[in-house]
Amino acid sequence: MSKEKIPYKTYLEENEMPKCWYNVRADMKVKPAPLLNPATLKPATIDELSAVFCRELAEQELNNTDAYIEIPEEIREFYKMYRPSPLVRAYCLEKKLGTPAHIYYKFEGNNTSGSHKLNSAIAQAYYAKKQGLTGVTTETGAGQWGTALSMACSYFDLKCDVYMVKVSYEQKPFRREVMRTYGANVTPSPSMTTEIGKKINAEFPGTTGSLGCAISEAVEKAVSTPNTRYVLGSVLNQVLLHQSVIGLETLSALKKLGVKADVIIGCAGGGSNLGGLISPFVGEMLRGENEYDIIAVEPASCPSLTRGKYAYDFCDTGKVCPLAKMYTLGSSFIPSANHAGGLRYHGMSSIVSELYDQGYIRATSVEQTDVFKAAETFARVEGILPAPESSHAIKVAIDEALKCKETGEAKNIVFGLTGTGYFDMVAYQKYNDGDMADYIPTDEEIAKCLSKLPVQPE
Ligand SMILES: *Cc1c(COP(=O)(O)O)cnc(C)c1O
Repeated sequence: MSKEKIPYKTYLEENEMPKCWYNVRADMKVKPAPLLNPATLKPATIDELSAVFCRELAEQELNNTDAYIEIPEEIREFYKMYRPSPLVRAYCLEKKLGTPAHIYYKFEGNNTSGSHKLNSAIAQAYYAKKQGLTGVTTETGAGQWGTALSMACSYFDLKCDVYMVKVSYEQKPFRREVMRTYGANVTPSPSMTTEIGKKINAEFPGTTGSLGCAISEAVEKAVSTPNTRYVLGSVLNQVLLHQSVIGLETLSALKKLGVKADVIIGCAGGGSNLGGLISPFVGEMLRGENEYDIIAVEPASCPSLTRGKYAYDFCDTGKVCPLAKMYTLGSSFIPSANHAGGLRYHGMSSIVSELYDQGYIRATSVEQTDVFKAAETFARVEGILPAPESSHAIKVAIDEALKCKETGEAKNIVFGLTGTGYFDMVAYQKYNDGDMADYIPTDEEIAKCLSKLPVQPE
C-alpha cells in the first residue's frame, strides 16, 4: 500500500487543531432570528437566559458579532484525547461505487460517547464548572447526548441529571448503563420528580414520553435546584459554535491536501453537526471567497426543512423554553418510530434555518430503508459501523457519487460521519430481518401540527 493510500487518516497534527471556534453569525448579513421570551414576545435578554443556562453560554448564545471565540485551554486539553478527528478518504467506497468522485468523511465517532456531541458537552460542562455550579440537567432521546454529557460532567466533577425519554430508557438499557457508569443520575421521562412530569403522567397514563416532554422536565429540575443549570445538546447557537471545531479541522485538512470541496453533506436533526461542519465553508461563501454545494439530509419521517414552516415555535412540550424561529413541524409533531433517534426533533437550528432560507444550503429527505442500505454498503467496505443518523449523510453522499459516475465529473464530496451505531443493533436487526418500515407523514398531519404554532410576533 502506498503512503497515499492509508485509509484512516487525520491529516492534521495535534498542534494544528483550532484554538478558536468560528461563529458564522458574525459573517451573516441577515442574522438568525433571536430567541423570544414566550410571555412578552420580546427578544430574550442575557439575564433571562442566564436563569436557565450558564452565564457564559448565554453570552455565546446572543453573540452575533465575534467571528472567533477562543477555546479555553482546559477544553483544548480534553479535545486532545480524541481530536483532531480523522478525515478519511473513502477509497474503498469510491472503488465499490465505480465513481470518479473523491469521497472524504469526517469521523466523529472516535470517542467513547460515539458521536460529535462530546465537542459541545465538554464545553458546556466547563463553563458550568467555571461559574461555580454544582450540577447540570438535560434530556436525552436516543442517549448519545446524555452519554456525552455524563462523560463531560465526570471529567469536571459535576452532578449530572439526565431525563431520558421513557421508551429509550426501556429499549436502550446499555446506553443508560454507560451514563450511570460515568456517574449520571438517569430518570425515565415523564417522571414523578417534576410538576410537568406529574401533569403529563396524569393526562396521558402509560405514555412512553417524548423529547419535548423530557426537555420541560430537565428545565424545571434545573431552575428548581440550587446552583444548577440546564444544558442542551443541539439546536442552540452556542452548540453550533462549539461544533465548528468539526468544520475548522475539515477545512484545514483539505487545505493541507490541496483539495477544494465541491459538495458538503451532513445529516440534520437539530442542526448542530451540520452547522458545525459547514460553518467555516459557509463563512467563505458569505465573504464571497468560494462556492460550495451544501446539502442537509433529514429523515422523510421528520422533514422539518423540506416540509416544515419557517416560523417562531415552542422548543418543548411544556412551553417553558424561549420561542425560536426555525423550520418546524410544530412542537406537537411526534415523528413515527424511526430508528434515527437523534434526528427526531420537530424543529431546526435558527442558524441552519436562516442559511437555508437564504439559499446558502439545500435540503433533501431520505427514507429509512434506503438509509440502512447505504449504512450496510458503507460498513462492508469502509469498516466503520455507522450510526443510523450519520447514515442519512452516507446515503446522499453515495447518491451524489453515483451522479458523478453518470456525468464523469470527479467532484470532491465531503460528508460528516457523526457517530457509530453499536447501540443501534435493534434497528440493524430490523433491517437485516426485512422488518423495517418507511413512514412518511401526510400533509394533513403536518398541517394539523402547524395550526398549533404560537402567535407570531409582529
Ligand atoms: C444527535 C446526533 C445527530 C443529530 O444531531 P444534530 O444536532 O442535528 O447534529 C446526528 N448523528 C449522531 C450520531 C447523533 O448522536
